[in-house]
Amino acid sequence: MCWEIYPGFAGSEVLYNEDGSVRGVATGDMGVGKEGEQKDTYMRGMELRGKYTLFGEGVRGSLSKELIRKFNLDEGRDPQKFGIGIKELWEVDPKKHKKGLIQHSFGWPLKANTGGGSFLYHFDDNLVSVGFVVHLNYKNPHLSPFEEFQRFKTHPSIRETFEGGKRISYGARAITEGGFQSVPKLTFPGGALIGCSAGFVNVPRIKGSHNAMATGMMAANAAFEAVKDGRQADTLSAYDEAYVGSHVEKDLKRVRNVKPLWSKLGTIIGVGLGGIDMWMNQLGIGLPFTLKHGKPDHAATESADKHKPIDYPKPDGEISFDRLSSVFLSATNHEEDQPVHLRLTDDTVPIAHNLPVFDEPAQRYCPAGVYEVMREDDGSDPRFVINAQNCVHCKTCDIKDPTQNINWTVPEGGGGPNYPNM
Ligand code: SF4
Repeated sequence: MCWEIYPGFAGSEVLYNEDGSVRGVATGDMGVGKEGEQKDTYMRGMELRGKYTLFGEGVRGSLSKELIRKFNLDEGRDPQKFGIGIKELWEVDPKKHKKGLIQHSFGWPLKANTGGGSFLYHFDDNLVSVGFVVHLNYKNPHLSPFEEFQRFKTHPSIRETFEGGKRISYGARAITEGGFQSVPKLTFPGGALIGCSAGFVNVPRIKGSHNAMATGMMAANAAFEAVKDGRQADTLSAYDEAYVGSHVEKDLKRVRNVKPLWSKLGTIIGVGLGGIDMWMNQLGIGLPFTLKHGKPDHAATESADKHKPIDYPKPDGEISFDRLSSVFLSATNHEEDQPVHLRLTDDTVPIAHNLPVFDEPAQRYCPAGVYEVMREDDGSDPRFVINAQNCVHCKTCDIKDPTQNINWTVPEGGGGPNYPNM
């Protein structure tokens, strides 16, 4: 068997056969300037063709999003749900390090009607990984997941761990949270979705890699058998069949009502009831029905006038920080002279619609300060600015923009965050 791995070449386009089946992917062109012009370094992208193509792009993959839409893979399913996880790596005072200690929390500083929680892991030599997840179905457009995370670290029982320590890395990424009722149809002519492209995270148990690997193996087995039988570019139904009743499906089914209960009844009652249902399911006696997720996350955002702005404390530079110093620690790097990879379907929407209705929430939900509304000194002439070079590829804008006007596309290959030890 021969493996070819192309690091630094992102899949930017799905290739189709004449009959509409998937033929493979194309990598992006390299050496294209800001205005779309070819530079001296220009190199055409490559076509990678296969009898079957398996898409494992992680959460909200740009090609998977296209495939789900084109082949109606989410028809009859609940909308996919998401959270944003923001994380830092710290080197702490050795006196405060307790190797192996794991801490989790729900809620604070979030209000009970906003889902989310934290983790702290002490590991290796004086390292602590700390993170905070905010469910993206929050209603208040003034909310900033980044500032909530910074505020979380100021809680007296958390702050203490980091006093005298040094923050060494920063990152952010969306997480699929829809689970059982949001898993789309997995196959289409010529390929399949695997891992987080389909959303196999078990949210209450905070894990998903096990299901990502298992579904990759199921799809690979189905493709192997099909190729052995001389088939190509048809539907790998054996993968759909293998998933139904599999340990992956059972894993997600047992916890399927936790997230809807949490969203509908809040952190205290919802998580409590969800926990009871989860453990009763473990014993085979949980709720005999599946609760629905309701609206997609972008549609959950309410207008700014229904909510009070949130007065977040200023970062102290010791425990809490601003976005730009955080992005610096993510080692994010993009070729500056390239087309903006965050594309607006309609350039007028941010200022003409999102600003008056939602106070343009992109200014707050982006954990990297990519989106800004700039004005003249007297507050006039608002302009929407996209600092695309800061993007840490979390995909939150693609998910949470209220009108779904932002499309995250792959930048020139190799660009993005570089997370050491994360
Ligand atoms: S621009 Fe979008 S994908 Fe990039 S960091 Fe901001 S929210 Fe995440």
